[in-house]
Amino acid sequence: MATHQFQTEVSQLLHLIIHSLYSNKEIFLRELISNASDALDKLKYLSLTDDKYKNLDQEFRIDVKFDEDAHTLTIADTGIGMNNKDLAQNLGTIAKSGTKSFLAGLSGDAKKDSNLIGQFGVGFYSAFMVADKIEVLSKKPGEKKGWLWSSDGKGEFDISEADKEKYGTEVKLYLNDEGKEYASRWQIELLIKKYSDHISFPIYLEYDSIKYEGEGDNRKEVKEHKIDKINSGSALWKRPKSELTDKDYNEFYKTISHDTEDPLYYIHTKAEGTLEYTTLFYIPQHAPFDMLHADYKPGVKLYVSRVFITDDDKELMPDYLRFLRGIIDSEDLPLNVSREILQQNKIMSSIRSASVKKVLSELKALSESNKEKYTKFIEQYNKLLKEGLYSDWANRETLTDLIRFKSTAVDGYTSFKEYTERMKPDQKSIYFITGGKESALKNSPLIEAYKAKGFEVLIMDDNIDEIVIPSLGKYKDFELKSVNRKGAADDLKDKEAEKKAEEIKPLLEKIKKVLGDKVKSVIASSRLSDSPSCIVADENDPTMQMQALLKSIGQGETEYAPVLEINPSHPIVKKLATIEDKDVIEDISFVLLEQARLAEGAPLADTAGFIKRLNRLTEKAL
Ligand code: ADP
Repeated sequence: MATHQFQTEVSQLLHLIIHSLYSNKEIFLRELISNASDALDKLKYLSLTDDKYKNLDQEFRIDVKFDEDAHTLTIADTGIGMNNKDLAQNLGTIAKSGTKSFLAGLSGDAKKDSNLIGQFGVGFYSAFMVADKIEVLSKKPGEKKGWLWSSDGKGEFDISEADKEKYGTEVKLYLNDEGKEYASRWQIELLIKKYSDHISFPIYLEYDSIKYEGEGDNRKEVKEHKIDKINSGSALWKRPKSELTDKDYNEFYKTISHDTEDPLYYIHTKAEGTLEYTTLFYIPQHAPFDMLHADYKPGVKLYVSRVFITDDDKELMPDYLRFLRGIIDSEDLPLNVSREILQQNKIMSSIRSASVKKVLSELKALSESNKEKYTKFIEQYNKLLKEGLYSDWANRETLTDLIRFKSTAVDGYTSFKEYTERMKPDQKSIYFITGGKESALKNSPLIEAYKAKGFEVLIMDDNIDEIVIPSLGKYKDFELKSVNRKGAADDLKDKEAEKKAEEIKPLLEKIKKVLGDKVKSVIASSRLSDSPSCIVADENDPTMQMQALLKSIGQGETEYAPVLEINPSHPIVKKLATIEDKDVIEDISFVLLEQARLAEGAPLADTAGFIKRLNRLTEKAL
């Protein structure tokens, strides 16, 4: 026998599961049955595609047994099984990427964490909520030896060789005080019906039924051993929509996603005609925990005529829809599709593009019919839709309608379409500001004049906006203009502004001379009202924030000097235009540049110099 330590993450997770999912402990049975079903799926697939597994001698099935007196519960399957290596790997470590950062992100508050844990997918370990010891006896088809894994879930597990006649896995729970109630026929039936009714393999329950025979003194108890099939076992996605309730859909979602919450939305489609396939997609209420990891686990499973093929293929749906959970089942694909074949398969790519279109059009409909739900969707997945904008050209137009923004005109989220409906008659373009947090952007000096004119500015506070939105260029007939750039202010110019600009021209030249190549140019601003200065990017240069972004990924070598805009109406500027003192002009020029940087959330270029000049000016003022 060999004793092993659980990987640290497993111990942490075990602790968390036991403490945060406690009120929902009955889900352990769903998790174990869904593991059994996955194991059967894997073996069934091999039996159809690999000659080695052609002559299996057992039916594909799940058997549940219990002992009311000994407080044990056993879930057995005739699936793919595990040998000693598999056991140590699968039930001793967590292979999911991003586990460490996920665990670090938990708050320690059981209520909050229980939702997160649900998204993480608790799986096998949830059984330790109801058992103080678990044994897993398993054997792989074609292998001679069987293996026994056992643990009390307290940091260690043992693995030893053990006799097992047939291949498959038996998970035996020694129920604790919390779990005792589950060693009962009625409880188990109830839970299987509630959570696992749609499992496509038969689930049998073994129990003793007690009958009374005879009369009076001859009356005696007769035990009869019975085995009943409990689940209805039809692949839910194959059933007509009209027969299914929200509850059916929600329970099925939980069995395939391991989520503890109901889904936000589901889309069930049956396509008939040249291609026959069924899809059932779910959108989780909360973004899957690994959504922003490059090596996320995809959530869509592929079936061919109800036979499970794969749940680990990122090509099934585009990356940007990686939050989807669900099923694609096609009648038209060959059973033994390998990953390579799948990628070049015309049928698969038609199903994929039709599915993407369907999901996006359903989302569009949802955005019109149920704003509240759509807002919830946006709060979780807006970023991914924007990702789609630069990866999915075929659906660009729909995606442009689906994305949402914050704005100076409304609370919450708004769309391009709503923006254009609110535009002022004399407004020529759609304005947006990027870089930084919502609160900072809303108070940026760059948008003062737009506000004053009643022009709405979209607040783009997502990192990704900076990359995606400029590449859009236009929405309908309206140009999208970044107020972080010089050109956007041209729309604000009028006769009076031009006159004022003319008046301070000599001052602008002086400031440029002082600042040299720290600035690209110094111009009169038509966008400022309360602030004396601001910086913007020249038309074709990256903005300050973009430069910072590029630098953060090691790509920002060239520095682009900003354009400094000066507000001709500001008292400081007006006064400065009348001053001859060279030193004062120099100090104030620097201060105007540095404060504009600060307002943009950029660091000072020369902190010590700034402080020195500020002190000098303050002294003079006093
Ligand atoms: P998940 O099912 O999310 O991968 P689990 O912790 O429930 O996580 O299970 C870990 C792994 O253990 C599974 O991925 C699978 O490889 C293996 N496993 C669990 N139960 C069984 C079973 N009944 N038969 C075969 N393998 C199993």
